[in-house]
Amino acid sequence: MTLFPPHLSDSSQRADTGPLAKIAIVGRGFTGIMTAIALLKGFDRPFHLVMFDPQPKIDGGESVSQSATTVLNSRVRDLSVDPQARDDFRQWLETDEAWRNRQDPAELNVEQSFVPGEIFSAYVYQRFSEVLRRRTDVIVQVCPESVTAIDRHPGRGLSIFFGDQQRTRFDAVFLATGYGLRDGADEPSTLSAVRDTVVIGGGVHAVDRALRLLAAGEASHVTLISASGFLPQSHARAAVGPVTSDRPLPGTLRGAFRFLREAANTADAEGSGWQGIMNGFRLRARDLWEGLTPEERRRFKRHVKAIYDSHRNRLPPEHYRRLHEALASGAITVRKGKVERIAINGVLLATAAGLEVLPADRTIDCRFRPTDIDSPLFRSVLRTGLARRDEVELGILVDRFGRALAAPDLFQGLFAMGPLGLGSLPDIDLVPEIVAQTHAAASALGSWIDELAEMGDVVRGAV
Ligand SMILES: Cc1cc2nc3c(=O)[nH]c(=O)nc-3n(C[C@H](O)[C@H](O)[C@H](O)COP(=O)(O)OP(=O)(O)OC[C@H]3O[C@@H](n4cnc5c(N)ncnc54)[C@H](O)[C@@H]3O)c2cc1C
Repeated sequence: MTLFPPHLSDSSQRADTGPLAKIAIVGRGFTGIMTAIALLKGFDRPFHLVMFDPQPKIDGGESVSQSATTVLNSRVRDLSVDPQARDDFRQWLETDEAWRNRQDPAELNVEQSFVPGEIFSAYVYQRFSEVLRRRTDVIVQVCPESVTAIDRHPGRGLSIFFGDQQRTRFDAVFLATGYGLRDGADEPSTLSAVRDTVVIGGGVHAVDRALRLLAAGEASHVTLISASGFLPQSHARAAVGPVTSDRPLPGTLRGAFRFLREAANTADAEGSGWQGIMNGFRLRARDLWEGLTPEERRRFKRHVKAIYDSHRNRLPPEHYRRLHEALASGAITVRKGKVERIAINGVLLATAAGLEVLPADRTIDCRFRPTDIDSPLFRSVLRTGLARRDEVELGILVDRFGRALAAPDLFQGLFAMGPLGLGSLPDIDLVPEIVAQTHAAASALGSWIDELAEMGDVVRGAV
């Protein structure tokens, strides 16, 4: 392994092996680091990898580790970065002395527990360092710049534009820009106590933030603003695997969700809990999504997505219990509405009854950020025809390998990984799905590099 300073050149050559494949990863969040791990493990030719991100840190995922104290809402058993070893994260945790010391032996087993983001991030980074050390035939360069555009290179492959209009050629580019450029400001760790705090957001992150403010005495009352009015549901106390029925899943949106509701009600009535049914449904969601009409997909986004998300992104049971205690005691109030404006003394809220000013001593924005599809970078790949938006406009149209498809079967070396593919692949913003996709992409890269070499030979032959 070689880590180079951030000066880039257009060609990479090694005296012993000849030209190296030049690969770029744009974004060093969890998806970017995971893509690097998968390439280092699965792409078995020498290569030169450049990882772009203006964020100075390299760890197991900028945003995951940024919320260090936030407990991840997936169990340890679902967070392995090795698709061949489902218990890799558990094994890593068991060797971690700090983790062992803080575990209560009476608690659930390690596989079933929930851990803070910083621990997961340390695990991912360690796995990245280990695999990097083993690849003496790979050059890795970290470039602390944001990428502004991507275009076809006049020779072959793709050009990346960054910094002050610098341009470098790559054979393949992996976009892993997730929820866009971050402003870099960490959350303040201690805040002075205030009475009324507004937390904007109805997801796991917003609930976690509200509970932490109350627990630390930093707020005596929190108003949670949920755009859909939904809050996350609870995980089962003990992990349940996917439960699937023998009955075929109806192929329409309405039919599939009626089927899901009935199965979940039956499971609840029988005492086995709806979570296993939901887990089983998610395994079939990709086929269902592929069979829906464009109009049904749009209806899903408008009417079903919020409730679907509240059942798939679940709270650890302990958090769920604390949330409902806080709701019952009045320490947390939930308001349904859309925030129109944030001011220093509160927020302007649009509700079904009209506009309302909600006074607050402090406002914290924990809204889920959509993928940054309107950034200059995305506008460039759409304009040059390297990629297309998916039809529900959640991101970029991709196949299961993460290949951006400008037209059916037209792949030109640009991959769009993780949450960028949310309009094409259900649940692709979650760790297990990202892990599987990055390994699939690493296997697809070899064929693309071969294809590119053949194209080069054809061009050279013609000249
Ligand atoms: C607090 C938290 C808890 C989570 N818990 C879970 C969980 O329990 N289970 C689970 O499965 N998943 C969890 N996740 C993962 C989550 O679901 C996301 O899918 C994941 O964080 C997405 O990572 P990402 O790398 O794609 O995007 P991001 O984290 O948004 O990272 C994108 C990176 O790209 C960089 N970037 C953006 N634009 C450019 C550009 N033009 N040029 C260069 N760099 C650029 C940004 O600076 C950033 O570092 C959690 C995430 C967070 C933040």
